[in-house]
Amino acid sequence: MSDAVRSVRGINDVLPAENPVWARLERVAAEVFATYGYDRIRTPIIEHTRLFERGVGEATDIVEKEMYTFTDRSGDSLTLRPEGTAGVVRSGIENGLFHNTTQRLWYSGPMFRHERPQKGRYRQFHQFGVEAFGPTGPDVDIEQIAMSSRLFTRLGVSGLMLTLNTLGTPEERRHYRAALMAYFSEHRESLDEDSLNRLERNPMRILDSKNPELAEIIANAPTLEDHLGDESRAHFDGVCQGLDQLGIGYRINPRLVRGLDYYTRTVFEWITTDLGAQDAVCSGGRFDGLVARLGGSSTPATGFALGTERLVQLMTAQELAGDDVSPHAYLVAADSIGTPRISAIAEWLRDQLPKLRLRVNTGGGSFKSQFKRADRSGARLALVIGEVEASMDSISIKPLTDQREQASVALTDAPALIDDWLFASAPAE
Ligand code: ATP
Ligand code: MG
Repeated sequence: MSDAVRSVRGINDVLPAENPVWARLERVAAEVFATYGYDRIRTPIIEHTRLFERGVGEATDIVEKEMYTFTDRSGDSLTLRPEGTAGVVRSGIENGLFHNTTQRLWYSGPMFRHERPQKGRYRQFHQFGVEAFGPTGPDVDIEQIAMSSRLFTRLGVSGLMLTLNTLGTPEERRHYRAALMAYFSEHRESLDEDSLNRLERNPMRILDSKNPELAEIIANAPTLEDHLGDESRAHFDGVCQGLDQLGIGYRINPRLVRGLDYYTRTVFEWITTDLGAQDAVCSGGRFDGLVARLGGSSTPATGFALGTERLVQLMTAQELAGDDVSPHAYLVAADSIGTPRISAIAEWLRDQLPKLRLRVNTGGGSFKSQFKRADRSGARLALVIGEVEASMDSISIKPLTDQREQASVALTDAPALIDDWLFASAPAE
């Protein structure tokens, strides 16, 4: 063990024991996105570094210090994607997906950021994300917030709060930025090193600071509200009214600025008090300027990304059941029957019952030890072929978890009985 190769810091396995909750989240998310008419897109994990420099923004934590960037053997600078939106936009432009049509897309997969690993913060983590391209109005912002809310409800997750803000247009932000710069410059001596760095480059990001010593200065900083034009104001009012209509509660947080550079107008975050410092589970907003910035023709867009590990952690803390992915049945057979016949019977059962998750005992052993393995597998049934069964072309079906009498039936009758016992009264969902 001592010279065994270990995993990379902050880059973790998802072990089989954690799989049920992951599987449930993956299944329910795909179902919910489909019910809103979103199509899945799969983009590469590796992209040109300049995609993220342009797409995420040079003055962001991600680009400044979190990217996994390397030069490949052809001398190209490549980066493991730190987020999903830039790649989706790149692909949409490259493949003409945005021409004269609304696109509703979703993605899921690993992202990479070189951050300080801690609970809820990893160097490889996973996101589910959705993006809509084309619509300008608040309706699609509302649709996506409702969709995230529905996902949490379907999963049974509770205690998430929606916070909401508007970042206006780039023009409005420029005025605001100047006001902020003036304000924070007056308080220069109280700022920490991080904030001083942000002051010149991107003063809005100071509002994002997690340093408690800056809380008061940040609380008294000017807000963007005073710089909003009529259209931005109307858009934000539209989002709020739509959420009111749907009965989705929210809190407006004028300090919510989001780490990424590309947002315009609506931004939102679902946060929880149950995950300690890593409190954001899902965040998103509108990014009307990004497609043009990455070389496409101007296309309004809006989207969100949710952190899979944080949602899994929340589901686990709230003791929400995962999907049952253990075998339904475990095949126990006497050694004398021989592998060819055992595997022929197993294959035949799988032919007859396509839904059946059947694990076949390997390596022989006494019935006692085989039954122990059957119990450990989580299977509901043991299918037993002893010498008596083999001589009569029959099989014994022994419930391992249900209160039911064991039955011995002709092999040809077994599929109907197994189907009845396992699937007849299968609960919905
Ligand atoms: P944070 O403020 O926690 O760093 P962020 O603003 O950087 O989050 P986004 O880039 O908006 O996060 O990503 C969307 C979601 O992805 C977050 O709300 C969070 O749930 C999750 N996430 C972000 N970074 C990590 C990470 N390093 N490890 C695990 N999950 C993460
Ligand atoms: Mg971050």
